[in-house]
Amino acid sequence: MECDADIIIVGGGLNGCTAALALAQIGQDVILIDAMPKEILADPAFDGRGYALALTSKNMLNVLGLWKEVAEDSCPILDIKVSDGRAGEGAAPWFVHFDHTEIEEGPMGYMLEDRFLRQALLQAIDGNPAIRHLDKTKVIDQEITAGMASVILADGKVLRSKLLIGCDGRQSQVAKRAGIKRSGWDYNQTSLVCAISHELPHKNTAHQFFMPSGPLAILPLNDNKSSIVWTETTARAAEISAMNDADYMACLRPCFGDFLGEISLQGGRYSYPLNLTLADRFVDNRLALVGDAAHGVHPLAGQGLNLGLRDIAALVEVLATAARRGEDIGALDVLSRFQQWRRFDTSSSVASTDIINKLFSNDNSTIRIMRDLGMGLINSTPFARRGLMRQAAGLTGDLPKLLQGKMI
Ligand SMILES: Cc1cc2nc3c(=O)[nH]c(=O)nc-3n(C[C@H](O)[C@H](O)[C@H](O)COP(=O)(O)OP(=O)(O)OC[C@H]3O[C@@H](n4cnc5c(N)ncnc54)[C@H](O)[C@@H]3O)c2cc1C
Repeated sequence: MECDADIIIVGGGLNGCTAALALAQIGQDVILIDAMPKEILADPAFDGRGYALALTSKNMLNVLGLWKEVAEDSCPILDIKVSDGRAGEGAAPWFVHFDHTEIEEGPMGYMLEDRFLRQALLQAIDGNPAIRHLDKTKVIDQEITAGMASVILADGKVLRSKLLIGCDGRQSQVAKRAGIKRSGWDYNQTSLVCAISHELPHKNTAHQFFMPSGPLAILPLNDNKSSIVWTETTARAAEISAMNDADYMACLRPCFGDFLGEISLQGGRYSYPLNLTLADRFVDNRLALVGDAAHGVHPLAGQGLNLGLRDIAALVEVLATAARRGEDIGALDVLSRFQQWRRFDTSSSVASTDIINKLFSNDNSTIRIMRDLGMGLINSTPFARRGLMRQAAGLTGDLPKLLQGKMI
């Protein structure tokens, strides 16, 4: 039986779309399937959601021809300030300040609104003859045989390929159907996400205040706006979500302090219950998991999408090499090279975000003194500061070519 495409991707979120473009660039033809309509995915309205993209993620988007489309809308993160805080008390005197001039490569990362990234991705996919994008299309089953990976759609149609990539998010059914188990737990925390405008300039500085109930991130956007990721216990977040805008802002203001002057809400308000989830394996015969389908981390370090882009960069490089050598791109030994490349980085990111969240999301006075002293120590040690900055920029480890800004 003939294949309908070299590769089928289930899930056309940010990772699925980026994977489709990167795979098309190495000569694979791709079917990209998503249950959502394109019009919703590409809604140009400002909705307040944004991502902190590491410098290496920007390099990758550049090679894929996407950065030029979003560069003007992105906001460089020049400094990052991390501190302990309590609502109404402002930041503790101990903090860590990461200043981008201490590393040679430039800004550690860029803030980019979700809508700009999604639009650029969908436009590039529309114009790419190697990608068939099926929106409003739900995958309900899959079958893997020795020579083929098939998906069954809700309308009963069957599509066949050499390789199936699961980009279907944290509840990945692609993984579940393949018998891939997951480890993880619920954080009993929910992130409240919105954007604010403010009176005073943010000076391209990202702030992370660790409050007892969870971290509060204030991330710079263009036009004197900032993206807010405000984590509370799930019960408290539900109470705050139910409030009107004025009461919502009255709860946010004391967490914030007055360093940005008067603040006001812009766009919508969103909430994301948080959990940790890690697939026990990222590959199977003719199957690979990428992005949140493989690993869902706490958003405190803004690493989720960056990890997904790192998966894509590694997978595409492994597949390009295999294709050049005449190997079967769906063979388990080929896909295992991708898993081997990504497993350590992923597991260590999952573990570090989990430990930081547990260490900081509490009000135990002994732990507070220890972590404040730890932050003071890091802040006074240039070597430690630079190491952490290079990590935030995504510059550490064995980097695939796309992340280095090189074509494969
Ligand atoms: C509050 C918050 C803040 C964050 N901030 C950052 C940040 O600053 N920087 C960063 O790097 N990351 C950040 N992240 C993480 C980032 O948002 C995610 O890692 C990323 O969006 C995951 O994308 P994905 O494509 O893997 O999955 P998803 O976005 O979940 O996409 C999955 C897609 O699969 C489709 N799908 C599922 N099942 C089927 C099916 N059966 N058939 C067809 N289609 C299907 C869905 O419709 C969906 O479009 C944040 C996350 C949260 C919650």
